[in-house]
Amino acid sequence: MKVLIADDSATSRAMLRTALSHWGYEVVLAEHGAEAWDILAQPDAPPMAILDWVMPHMTGPEVCRKVRETRREPYTYILLLTSKNSKGETVEGLEAGADDYIVKPFDQHELQVRLRVGKRIVDLQMDLLRAREELRDRANKDLLTMLPNRSAISTVLEQELARSHRDQRTVGVVLLDIDHFKKINDTYGHFAGDAVLRETASRLRGNMRTYDQVGRYGGEEFLVVLPNCDLEQAAHQAERMRQRLENTKMMVDALEISVSASFGVTVSDGSERTLDELVRVADEALYQAKAAGRNCVKCLAVADSSLGAQTT
Ligand code: GH3
Ligand code: MG
Ligand code: MG
Repeated sequence: MKVLIADDSATSRAMLRTALSHWGYEVVLAEHGAEAWDILAQPDAPPMAILDWVMPHMTGPEVCRKVRETRREPYTYILLLTSKNSKGETVEGLEAGADDYIVKPFDQHELQVRLRVGKRIVDLQMDLLRAREELRDRANKDLLTMLPNRSAISTVLEQELARSHRDQRTVGVVLLDIDHFKKINDTYGHFAGDAVLRETASRLRGNMRTYDQVGRYGGEEFLVVLPNCDLEQAAHQAERMRQRLENTKMMVDALEISVSASFGVTVSDGSERTLDELVRVADEALYQAKAAGRNCVKCLAVADSSLGAQTT
């Protein structure tokens, strides 16, 4: 673990460096308070710092206060090193946000033990951050296909719709549904069905521009969000995806499975449309594609949909 040592005395720095290196810490040095703050303000700052109280430019407690004001995560564990030992000054150091303090001249063993306490807290906090990241990731991901799940892709579309309204741009929306998927399950089994879903997801994702997004919207239904696409461009993208599914059979456990999908395409017309409205129109287009014999792309402008008929 990296530890910052900030002390204006070269002797003190050298002594601390030797001790900490000996205990297995990776040491970063600063000669005054401002340099310490510069290092601690970096995104990859050491998670622990030993700060001398009296230093040029900024004192230890000043650095401490700045760290607490500006850096919330990941946590920086701060130990103030001081020759001051009156009760008032100890309180002042802790008030500034220090986690612990040690009075100079210090006992090496005591410093070692106090650093171990700090390391334990830093480790715990990192575990917590990792667990939170993992939970967040899991809450947004469909675990079968590893695509964004319904809630996550809906959020993406909502954000894109808000942006499109603000900037008067269009957003293409494609809803696609694998054809006769129930038959694939019935013929090859549920596991093969799962493999087909995974391969479909991977082909859809592989076919996209970097700012396009696809998510699993339902069982065998996927939603694609295409920023800055008009109806014609979105239809073109959908047609490419359709061909990518149709043209190459999927290999699942030495079985060759033909897969196709039907596509419903619409576009936000810049007016304030909600996610529900656009998905409803895309679904109407998808229904038309199914009715037209499946394995095809159908486009529908909001104005030409049943929703348009209601609102005009
Ligand atoms: P259509 O062409 O009209 O869309 O017909 P379909 O058979 O694809 O549609 P239907 O809605 O009748 O069947 C969808 C099937 O998808 C039913 C359901 O069991 C299956 N399914 C949903 N989620 C999963 C999944 O995660 N894995 C597998 N293997 N099957 C799933
Ligand atoms: Mg289907
Ligand atoms: Mg379906």
